[in-house]
Amino acid sequence: MEPALYDMLEIITSHVYSAYHYCLRQGWYAAHRMMGEQSNEWMARGKLIESLVKKRGYRQVYLLGSVIDIVEDTSRGLRVVEIKASKGSLERGIHQAKFFLFLLHLTGVDDAIAEVSVPMSKIRQEIRPSDEVYREVEEYVRFFYNISQGPPPHIERVKKCHACSYKHLCWGS
Ligand code: SF4
Repeated sequence: MEPALYDMLEIITSHVYSAYHYCLRQGWYAAHRMMGEQSNEWMARGKLIESLVKKRGYRQVYLLGSVIDIVEDTSRGLRVVEIKASKGSLERGIHQAKFFLFLLHLTGVDDAIAEVSVPMSKIRQEIRPSDEVYREVEEYVRFFYNISQGPPPHIERVKKCHACSYKHLCWGS
């Protein structure tokens, strides 16, 4: 029998959710708490967040097993921001921002606004909560959870393997 959604979220954290959107195999590694190598992009993102948190007094919030790096109280309500270090990660940032809206929804907050920001490329994209967003995220959570309970997904060498933090596990280099 499929477990409750809340139990699935103990496995499918925001980090795991994002990894699954990169590659199903990467998500499986992350769901099994296997460590990837810290890429330059990951470190650049960490530095950006650190500087923004210091400069603007943003907060980090832990919610249902996941961490939301930037939460800001504005006159328009709560704003969560997902920072990405490069334009190439924008799509994944959007998925992650929707995931944050979903977590907030589960805790009774339906008026937050999510933003994906790529400071280096001066990109800011706003995402608003909706039933469609919640439905989409819940479907992904169930799908990724079921994959995490099975054997490691098939690997195939593709362009993005080059930048993947788990390439040493798949390809040994
Ligand atoms: S190296 Fe390639 S196949 Fe392996 S997890 Fe990364 S992207 Fe997926």
